[in-house]
Amino acid sequence: MPDTLVTILQRADAIPSLGKVLLTLLAMAVILVPLEYLFPARPNLPVRRKTFFLNLSYWFFNPLFTQVTSKTAVALVFLGLFLALGWTLDESFLDGFGPMSRQPLWLQAIEILLIADFIDYWTHRWFHVSRAWRFHAIHHSPEEMTWLASSRMHPVNDFITRTCQVVPIVLMGFSPKAALLVVPYIVFFVILLHSNLNWDFGPLRWVFVSPLYHRWHHTTDPEGIDKNFAGLFPIWDVLFGTAHFPRREPTRFGVNHNPPPESLLGQLLYPFRKLTHQHPESHQPQEGEPSENQSSVTSEQ
Ligand SMILES: [Zn+2]
Ligand SMILES: [Zn+2]
Repeated sequence: MPDTLVTILQRADAIPSLGKVLLTLLAMAVILVPLEYLFPARPNLPVRRKTFFLNLSYWFFNPLFTQVTSKTAVALVFLGLFLALGWTLDESFLDGFGPMSRQPLWLQAIEILLIADFIDYWTHRWFHVSRAWRFHAIHHSPEEMTWLASSRMHPVNDFITRTCQVVPIVLMGFSPKAALLVVPYIVFFVILLHSNLNWDFGPLRWVFVSPLYHRWHHTTDPEGIDKNFAGLFPIWDVLFGTAHFPRREPTRFGVNHNPPPESLLGQLLYPFRKLTHQHPESHQPQEGEPSENQSSVTSEQ
């Protein structure tokens, strides 16, 4: 059984190498630095030295620690589930089972994307409105939105989101191979969303989340608070009343109240420190600020 777990983790690309991390970082820099220079949302965006090194440290910490631990934890969740259900965990796990797994891989991949994004919408929204916000606040901590800031993610945030997405999809019978096919493209897309790019995808902004759309999620401007939770497809925000589509730029980013410190260790400990406080932090507008629920879908042409 442990051998099977290791094989599954290897096939799921959960065991990283420093070389691969460096290569990914280099590839992203080669693509995104020129794009941010050519199509900046904010020209000459000042990035403080401390912020730059914190962002950079997440680029190593995230794949080498966060993702390894959360993928291993998800594998252990499966191990427990399979034991409880009396199923055997072997390499056939990667093929899926039942009618879902008999569809072509590309069709499974599209269905998985839709289901995973729907689940992500609700887990993301839950992170914003519950005491779990303090874990998600780490992702919202950058005050300058650049591609390098995209990897800020607390390990607890990563584990909860990943488990909520992967467990139902596997239990439905989908082949994890289909999901693994699209993961690199999704990772690139998510990094692109956090870039300092002025792209809003024109008419396609209703179909795919754009960098501008996601900046309205990260803003601390009152009109954008708790809007645009969708990671890939804005349809979820439209359906559930949280879409916000202005064509202009938000003015500021970060965390409104008690922002996390600008250090890796400080950010990792931040949620646990805050949990001891009597009054939970909130991303909700405080007294005197406008309510975030004034409209369901807002769009400016
Ligand atoms: Zn968020
Ligand atoms: Zn984000």
